[in-house]
Parts: sequence; structure tokens; C-alpha cells
Amino acid sequence: MNFLFSFTISRRILKQQPPAKKDRKDTVNTMEEKTEMTEKTEMNNTNEASARPRRKTMMFDLDGTMYRGTQPIEAGIRAIEFCRAHEIPYLFLTNNSMRTPQENADHMNRMGYTDIRAEDFVNSAMAAARYVKHLNQGNRAWMIGQDGMKQALLDEGFEITDDHPDFVFIGLDKTADYAKYSKALALLLDGAKLVGTNMDRILAKPGGFEVGNGSVVAMFEYATGQKSPQIAKPYAPILETALAYAGISKEDAVLIGDNLETDIALGYNNGVRTLFVESGVHHREDIERLEVIPDETVASLDEADFLRLSAIDQTIV
Ligand SMILES: [Mg+2]
Repeated sequence: MNFLFSFTISRRILKQQPPAKKDRKDTVNTMEEKTEMTEKTEMNNTNEASARPRRKTMMFDLDGTMYRGTQPIEAGIRAIEFCRAHEIPYLFLTNNSMRTPQENADHMNRMGYTDIRAEDFVNSAMAAARYVKHLNQGNRAWMIGQDGMKQALLDEGFEITDDHPDFVFIGLDKTADYAKYSKALALLLDGAKLVGTNMDRILAKPGGFEVGNGSVVAMFEYATGQKSPQIAKPYAPILETALAYAGISKEDAVLIGDNLETDIALGYNNGVRTLFVESGVHHREDIERLEVIPDETVASLDEADFLRLSAIDQTIV
């Protein structure tokens, strides 16, 4: 058995295994199941009604894929320029709920990207607000979060109030303090439902790490005994939001990112094509350890063949 053959076999075996169980996965509650059903029906209807797009949509992660903190990844700039020049649709898909889409666009345009627009972004706050709206269990919300969280709630028609809210949303908020956490706790104990935008445990920053929003959500789960629905990467609701936003089905999307456990796992677990780029947190030696298998791996986005990746059939390559 030559090496290539044995590699192909082991890859196939890995692919056939059920997705590695995430420790939080069995906590998915009925809220999530109900919304997933609603979304699937909605998506099927959309797909039947619309014609197939000409090219697949590239869904790029941000941190570690397009930039690191305030430093752009130059290959990311070239990738976006290439997509735009060749009319390959793209959007940015991020677990970070802190910035509004406009703030995200400004952030990227300041660091050397050009003509990035607010409508190019889907974040976990948008996914959380959309997810909860579809539950039809009330529109009164209180939140811990910054501008991105607030705008997402207002855009989905939520009233932000601390007077018996139906939901307490927890998004990344670097200014929140003990008093604010205690207020959220009181509202949750009074009957509001807990909704965390994302479960990222830690956040990378230059030279180290910060507390991720998932760690704060876990604190509220511990304090209240409630479980938050799972919304952001690697869980399906954020993908459903992005597909609905782009007006496409999952066959016409490609997920691109640097994190095997979030960006690539989202595609691997949900049957969406993935491109793994080694410009951020993970490298190809992590693939086997994590049992998350990308469809393609590149060291830099400069190596990616976007014309081929976006081709829907052989006639338009
Ligand atoms: Mg990333």
C-alpha cells in the first residue's frame, strides 16, 4: 500500500466518522430544534423559488484570515480584490458580535482593504437576533454587548428593556462589569431566557489572550442552570443566517477560515465546502488531532484558486 493510497483511506475513514462530539453539543435545547426546522423550511422555499447563482459565494472568516488585530493579512486583501475583479460573490462571517457591520467595514478599510461595505458582513449578533425572532416567544430583550449586539436586536425589531424582558442576550462586551453581570443574572432568575451569541472560550490578541464571550455565557449558565442555544460557528444557526442573507443554498457556499474548530467544523459538520488557511490559529498538523477535515488546505490565500472554488459547473471555469 503506497503512502498516497493509505492517506486516502485514512482520510475516508475519518470522513465517515460522526463529527467529533463537542462537549456542549448535547445541551442543544428545544428552542434550537424548533428554529432549525423553521429555517430549513424557509431555506427550501427560497431555494425552490430562486435560480442558481452564477458562482459560489466565498464566506471569509475575519480574524486570522483577513487580518490579525489591526494588521491586515496582505493575501486577504489580494483575495478580496481578485473576487471582486472576477465577480465572485463574497461575504465576511464572524463570531465576533462587538462591532456593527459598518464598524467592521471601517476597520477593514482603515487597514488597507478598499470598498468593503457594511452589507458584506454577517456576525453572531445578527444570527442570534434572527434565531430568537423566529422562535416567536416575545420581542422584549435586554443585553450585555456593544454596538454590534444592539444594532442586531433593533434591526430584528426587538425592544430593548430591563422591564421583564423575554430574553437576555450575551454578546462580547469589553466594558461590562460586575454590576451589569448581576443585573443580567437578576433578569434571568426572574424568567428571561439566556441567549449567548457565541461560545468562543478565549480571544486571541497580540501577545496573548482575552476572555471570550463563551466564557461569560458559561458563567450565566452556571449561575442560572439555563443552557444557551448554540448559534455561532461551529453551530448551524449562523450558517443558516448567512445562507439566507446571501439568498443561496449550502451547495453554493464555500467557508474559508483559519480555525478548524469553528470555521472548518461548521462546514465539515453541515456539508459545506471548506478552505482552510494556515494564517491564524491552526496548522495542517492539527487536522488529524482535531478530526476536522477541510476540503482544501492552503498556507496562504495567495495559493487559493478562487475561480475553481467558485465554479458551479465545469462550463464557467
Ligand atoms: Mg479566525
